[in-house]
Amino acid sequence: MTIPALTLNNGVAIPQLGFGTYKLAPAQTRDLVLRAFDAGYRHVDTAQMYRNEREVGQAVAASGLPREELFVTTKLNNAFHAHDDALAAFDRSLDELGLDVVDLFLIHWPLPAVGLYTQAWAALEEIYASGRARAIGVSNFQPDHLTRVLESGTVVPAVNQVESHPYLQQAEVRAFDAVHGILTEAWSPLGRGAVLGDPVIAGVAARHGVTPAQAVLRWHVQRGDVVFPKSATPARIVENADIFGFTLDDGDMRAIDALDRDERQGSHPDTENRTDR
Ligand code: NAD
Repeated sequence: MTIPALTLNNGVAIPQLGFGTYKLAPAQTRDLVLRAFDAGYRHVDTAQMYRNEREVGQAVAASGLPREELFVTTKLNNAFHAHDDALAAFDRSLDELGLDVVDLFLIHWPLPAVGLYTQAWAALEEIYASGRARAIGVSNFQPDHLTRVLESGTVVPAVNQVESHPYLQQAEVRAFDAVHGILTEAWSPLGRGAVLGDPVIAGVAARHGVTPAQAVLRWHVQRGDVVFPKSATPARIVENADIFGFTLDDGDMRAIDALDRDERQGSHPDTENRTDR
């Protein structure tokens, strides 16, 4: 199976499908990431907040795969937006992961009431300039947060990773990202399972002889999102990667597009300001 790659605004290639690791217990993470590699995934999404970077790094080392075939993303945790804290936190991530270079480093949340994300972005620009992150970006940034980053910085974020699934399609954020050459990554692409019982999705899946999860992931891929579904169940890890052998037609795409109802599973970026996670 070949997973297609998209190209970031600095020319770096990113596999459009990855493996999500939020809520994977550290004790399971190494084995599950290795299973994902066996199933063909080459992209892993972790974060300082997930407390499993070390085990992700162990899987990378144990896989025997050439480093240049893998794409590893991690994210700056909320307590470390101050410039020097961000630099030190990034050093700790490299240490935990056992890597010299990450493929993508993101600011995890903007934390607007904390008000330090442009300072954090300046630190990420320095990390990028040092060559220790092949690309840098943001997560959970609304257009007004991105506007401040674009005004204060010199590097345009390569990605904006936001919650997105059929019940939260993020038209405004995706349009802003697209205008500025920022690739949108969809976190919780399955809505943490909430969209999988939807009758419209069940109908699309049945027409193609696939599962609801596969139909939803295929919808994301065809609209151009990067996705990294999470599962701790080996059969589902395989299932979620098996989405490149069928194509949704315009009617299927429109039917899923029509499910948008501004329903979040996670926090709203304008009001999430916790620094203790
Ligand atoms: P998800 O949408 O990937 O849903 C995962 C859940 O869906 C699983 O726990 C399981 O219950 C179910 N599931 C998975 N595959 C299934 C299948 N084939 N059939 C039936 N049910 C299935 O949710 P997520 O883990 O929240 O998001 C994916 C990844 O996005 C995370 O692991 C993480 O890497 C990233 N993420 C980022 C942020 C952020 O703030 N940047 C926030 C949340 C998640």
